[in-house]
Amino acid sequence: MINELHQKLINKEITAVELANGYLSKIQEKDKEINAFISLADKETILKQAEQVDEKIEKGKEINILEGIPFAAKDNMLALGTKTTAGSKILENYESIFDATVIQKLRNQGAILLGKTNMDEFAMGSSTENSAFFTTKNPCDLERVPGGSSGGSAAAVKSEMAPFALGSDTGGSIRQPASFCGVVGFKPSYGAVSRYGLVAMASSLDVISPLTRTAEDAEIVFKSIAGKDPMDSTSLDLPLFSEEIQNTQFRIQNTVFGVPKEYFGPGLDETVKKHLEETIKKIESQGAQIKEVSLKMSPYALPCYYIIMPAEVSANLARFDGIRYGSILKSQPSVANLRDIYFKSRGKGFGAEVRRRLVLGTYVLSSGYYDAYYKKAQQVRRLITEDFNKVFQEVDFLLTPTSPTLPFKIGEKVDNLLAMYLSDIFTVGANISGVPAISLPCAKSENNLPIGLQIIGPYLSDYSLLKAAKSIEDIIG
Ligand code: GLN
Repeated sequence: MINELHQKLINKEITAVELANGYLSKIQEKDKEINAFISLADKETILKQAEQVDEKIEKGKEINILEGIPFAAKDNMLALGTKTTAGSKILENYESIFDATVIQKLRNQGAILLGKTNMDEFAMGSSTENSAFFTTKNPCDLERVPGGSSGGSAAAVKSEMAPFALGSDTGGSIRQPASFCGVVGFKPSYGAVSRYGLVAMASSLDVISPLTRTAEDAEIVFKSIAGKDPMDSTSLDLPLFSEEIQNTQFRIQNTVFGVPKEYFGPGLDETVKKHLEETIKKIESQGAQIKEVSLKMSPYALPCYYIIMPAEVSANLARFDGIRYGSILKSQPSVANLRDIYFKSRGKGFGAEVRRRLVLGTYVLSSGYYDAYYKKAQQVRRLITEDFNKVFQEVDFLLTPTSPTLPFKIGEKVDNLLAMYLSDIFTVGANISGVPAISLPCAKSENNLPIGLQIIGPYLSDYSLLKAAKSIEDIIG
């Protein structure tokens, strides 16, 4: 898709201005119904950037693959000229004060930011229903959720309001919405992409990456945003990015895929299971070796996530105190004291799910409970990571469902927290252990809802994982 647009630009079949205008009209036409965007970038700026690309092409200069390609970004990434709300009331009027590294890298390569997409508040949720503003609809069925928390990005790509969109994934927030909307969602190895300028949720789990229409597009965007950034000390500068690794050949016949039995047990929807099993058979029929494996620690991944994640959330969100961010002083000048400012701003500014996680996170970190919960969860985290390391000595990649269910109806799970949290049961493991994973659309249910296949690779195998994904995409057809 990106390469096709690029070819059209260099062959002068379309101008960058026409391309940008095309997407802007699509947004105008479709977003009334879908609600994928929280805000749009300034139209004049968009068109000016596009004009510059056209001038370059006119002059016969070479252009980069992303030059003139429009994109959208989840509203938790700072981008100059836009507000960054993170889906929260507390940041409703917050103007970005710089470009996140990912945005800067894309802009440097000539990609054009169209706007910012809807998300669950501070990326906490699986349906966008926790957004303080509105719920995004799934373009495949308007009565259903697009998944979350990067639901706006997934819906924007699916409904062709942007060729690609950035999302963030802390426990599944790129892959699960990708699976629900029938697009590709890639979560790279932890540290492969800089988090500078991302509104932090849980810093040891957060990763930024694209939602795209194809695995090839995921690779194009990943390549242009990955790498060491002095502004993020956890970003990596490793052979992961060397040309040699990028160019190694992938052969499905030489590949062993593990199918972890824990991911196909109770809790997995029968339709999802049936279609995944058929997909795995197809992959096998192309010469890949399929091997049943066991990840014994998988049942502990979700409970472990729901201790580590809120603990980090409670630390990260302490900065939203009504003074530095989310000031209520303008609307309520009569606050009694500092404590009153905190209570009023955080009480009004944060939604119920955010407050719930703040309480939980503060609790697991408090003295007396720290050892029983937080420390224990860190030990379990290590065991989960070892589990993955071990299985990757036997197999090259793992094949699993992305989500245990088909996209659910808007409102269906809002009162059932556990059911909502279970949406990420198959995705959180990759965040806990830092390994890369990708969700590919692999089939459709009888009522035409998309089903996602998740491929998980060893830590830092990002480029080979993307190659495997491309080859599986061809097999699925
Ligand atoms: N749905 C998960 C949660 O609510 C994952 C969120 C994410 O990856 N940002 O925590």
